[in-house]
Amino acid sequence: MVKAKKWILKKQFEGLPKKSDFELVEEDLSRDLKDGEVLVESTFLSVDPYMRVYKKTTGEVMIGSSVGKVLKTNNKKFKVGDKVVINAGWRTHAIVSDKVNPYELRHLAPLGDLPLSAGLGVMGMPGMTAYFGLVDVCKPKVGETVLVNGAAGAVGSVVGQLAKIKGCTVIGFAGTKEKCDWLKSLNFDHVFNYKETDVKTALDKAAPKGIDVYFDNVGGDFTVDALNYMNPFGRILVCGAISTYHDGSRKMVPDPFMTILQKKLTVYGFIVTDVLNRWGEAFPEMLLWLQQGKLQFRETVTEGFENMPEAFQSLFSGGNTGKAVVKA
Ligand code: NDP
Repeated sequence: MVKAKKWILKKQFEGLPKKSDFELVEEDLSRDLKDGEVLVESTFLSVDPYMRVYKKTTGEVMIGSSVGKVLKTNNKKFKVGDKVVINAGWRTHAIVSDKVNPYELRHLAPLGDLPLSAGLGVMGMPGMTAYFGLVDVCKPKVGETVLVNGAAGAVGSVVGQLAKIKGCTVIGFAGTKEKCDWLKSLNFDHVFNYKETDVKTALDKAAPKGIDVYFDNVGGDFTVDALNYMNPFGRILVCGAISTYHDGSRKMVPDPFMTILQKKLTVYGFIVTDVLNRWGEAFPEMLLWLQQGKLQFRETVTEGFENMPEAFQSLFSGGNTGKAVVKA
């Protein structure tokens, strides 16, 4: 008998997520597997900002991905012991299938000597967001200036390093001195703590030639100010808007259409799962950069499945450096 645990959403979030919005419940997963199904035990679970804003149904399991191993299988593509990435929510164990949605059950990216958790971070969804969002969509050129906020996070830290690999000048913003020190050690050209230096003062100093590519993880007032520094024909990737996720009174992104018009900017919307069938194109190059030390990553690991809500909450107070994961 497989005794599994899952976190369900007890109450829709109001403002910042609270522990009382979640409930930990047990479930029995010892039923027979249908054709195509596998039973997976999660080793690491992901907490991500999107979980705050995606529509969720009260009483259902919290959404999310995890990496783990196959315990039982009725699917020819997956053997017992295989390492997989699943999208089954906050569960210690799950019965999943790749038949309807390939995002629900996949083999892990090649990880070399990297820890399993890297399949949720630098070699998983956030890493692929950085790679495809920056390299494929924004196409940074040598000598251009790239601005990234949320720069010490799972996506932002990879964006800045990829921009350096592409020969750009990189300006990063993060929320603590420790995070800024890490970004300097990764050779970011200019790093600012946005809690101490306002965007205008920082960009007057760091972007005298303007910004060519703006990879926006934060939105809100930051973006209103940053847009003034864009060069004509600059490119903006609207990746996320974490500064606005829990403030229902605000728009998630500003209304800067006059600036976009005057500067003839190109603004891209982007969702990483739309390019799921292309992630394999990025894996060899990303793994090589990691093995060569050109790309580095950090993870903030919370111990214990029972601490999923705290790990999630901590995203919104800057508690994580690099990818936030929970060890089940
Ligand atoms: P992070 O690992 O960056 O974690 C969140 C970080 O955001 C925190 O550590 C904190 O760092 C920062 N933050 C929190 N609140 C604020 C605020 N009010 N203002 C500025 N910074 C804040 O998360 P991810 O890298 O996973 O995600 C980054 C962004 O990308 C999010 O907006 C997310 O929704 C988006 N995203 C979009 C995807 C897509 O396909 N479009 C896919 C993946 C992510 P600090 O200490 O610096 O404040």
